[in-house]
Amino acid sequence: MSDSSHKTRMERKKAVIDAKIAKATEERGVLILLKGNGKGKSSSAFGTMARSVGHGKRCAVIQFIKGRTETGEFKLFKDHPLVDWHVMGHGFTWETRDKAQDIAAAQKAWSIAEDLLQDDRYDMLVFDEMGYMFKYDYLDVAPVVEALKSRPKNQNVIITGRTMATALQDIADTISIVQDERHAFRLGVKAQQGIEY
Ligand code: ATP
Ligand code: MG
Repeated sequence: MSDSSHKTRMERKKAVIDAKIAKATEERGVLILLKGNGKGKSSSAFGTMARSVGHGKRCAVIQFIKGRTETGEFKLFKDHPLVDWHVMGHGFTWETRDKAQDIAAAQKAWSIAEDLLQDDRYDMLVFDEMGYMFKYDYLDVAPVVEALKSRPKNQNVIITGRTMATALQDIADTISIVQDERHAFRLGVKAQQGIEY
């Protein structure tokens, strides 16, 4: 392609994009869902939260599933003055077998989430692995949808989980599917600090 036709194409492209930008004028918080079987959901959520924190915004995390090891992002943010980090008590890990105890823990975590969803001092909330709570009937989705709908106008919420309830998808602003095309684990590579957790 000649330099001049490249220039014309780029100018046309810019005009199209500028027109779209001019149309997106609404200012409000968004609900972002990160789902799918590939690697990158929680790390994307915490990466986005790091962006917000970098701009001085107040954030909170609720981890609905507790891993076996402390994650790097937990260690980084747990004492940060702009971040509140809640890990669901005794709750659901892949090892527990006690469903009643898991449900109690899920409900406790949800009651914290519900308070945060009414608190306009928080600019961003991350509900990590919340998607599973609906899949396993640990939480009802209806009250979650209601609380999300009536949250402060500028509050952003990110929810992760391999699966996502349809009722959440119906009210989400942004949904990204992280697809599993390949994972090092299946090549026999051991989970490593700084990559997996
Ligand atoms: P990450 O926290 O790395 O962004 P994730 O939130 O997308 O991952 P989860 O479903 O929460 O993925 O799984 C968490 C852990 O499992 C991470 O250690 C991640 O590297 C690993 N993992 C994610 N996807 C796969 C996969 N397809 N196969 C094997 N391990 C995976
Ligand atoms: Mg995750």
